[in-house]
Amino acid sequence: MLVVMKAQATPEQVQAVCDYIDQLGFRAHPLPGAQRTAIGITGNKGEFNRGNLEELSGVAEVIRVSKAYKLASRDVKEEDTIIRFAGSDATIGGRGVAVVAGPCSIESREQAFAIAESVAAAGAQFFRGGAYKPRTSPYAFQGLGLDALRIMAEIRDRFGLRIVTEAIDAHTLGLVAEWADVVQIGARNMQNFALLKLAGKLRKPVLIKRGLSATLEEFLMAAEYVMSEGNYQVILCERGVRTFADHARNTLDLSIIPAVRRLSHLPILVDPSHATGRRDSVLPMARAAVASGADGVMVEVHDHPEKALSDGPQSIYPEQFALMMDELAQIAPVVGRSLPRGIHIEAARA
Ligand code: PEP
Ligand code: MN
Repeated sequence: MLVVMKAQATPEQVQAVCDYIDQLGFRAHPLPGAQRTAIGITGNKGEFNRGNLEELSGVAEVIRVSKAYKLASRDVKEEDTIIRFAGSDATIGGRGVAVVAGPCSIESREQAFAIAESVAAAGAQFFRGGAYKPRTSPYAFQGLGLDALRIMAEIRDRFGLRIVTEAIDAHTLGLVAEWADVVQIGARNMQNFALLKLAGKLRKPVLIKRGLSATLEEFLMAAEYVMSEGNYQVILCERGVRTFADHARNTLDLSIIPAVRRLSHLPILVDPSHATGRRDSVLPMARAAVASGADGVMVEVHDHPEKALSDGPQSIYPEQFALMMDELAQIAPVVGRSLPRGIHIEAARA
């Protein structure tokens, strides 16, 4: 159910409607929009009986939302969600194309700083680096853990880059939320519903990567899990799905971008690194991602990929990353976007 408030409804009227919904044993999600506030109603206690909601002051109408995902749906919020970061002018969603770049894993302070310096110089506003790695083999490098989170916090202080890193379970979720700016939930955890609910309790942006074979609806339902707990700062990320094709690590499904943008107000990024698994494919797919309307890209960059402890073959060199930025800056205006580059020092220091 969705309560649409009148354009001139007061904050007190919105609050009174939320209180009424809470009293009925459901959860109210006020979602302010440019024109008016909508209040999503969720709960798992069966059908919501609208009672005399329609008669409450300030209410314009009460609408049934038939889709499985509600808070993630454009039916509930028409305007694109824009994720903002305190002390920075970087955004995810909206007109600017966001670029998240960095190594697959943080391997050492020297490695992380060298890569951060190069991606910052090329204009990236977000830095990625794995601290906790979900690896196929238990014998593969599992990440530096808390040490890596500390290194990335130093990188934020030094370069103003906002930090995106993955949490793999309830324990690491708390740590990542404490140290990073965006909490990533990896493809393998996209349907870890208990973890998604915990991420919903955070008041930090959560980036959800598409599951290895997730449908569009399953992907949006993962976002819905986070939002249902009151965290509306959700970013989606297409990273390829598994198909019969064996020329690439995964098959990048760019057609999901217009589909997500049609059905949801949430921003969607594309990760051409995990999608292809090949350095030579990253730049072409990054170009295509921006051309097809993605809100940004997440790419793996390494200064010595041949020595990388994870995902070396798909990591691009810093020079290739700089070229990618130049090309994306040219493509973005063709599709009505821009590529904000660099951090405004005043904002970063604030
Ligand atoms: C990653 O971004 O480091 C990662 C492990 O990606 P995915 O969850 O998409 O495989
Ligand atoms: Mn990786």
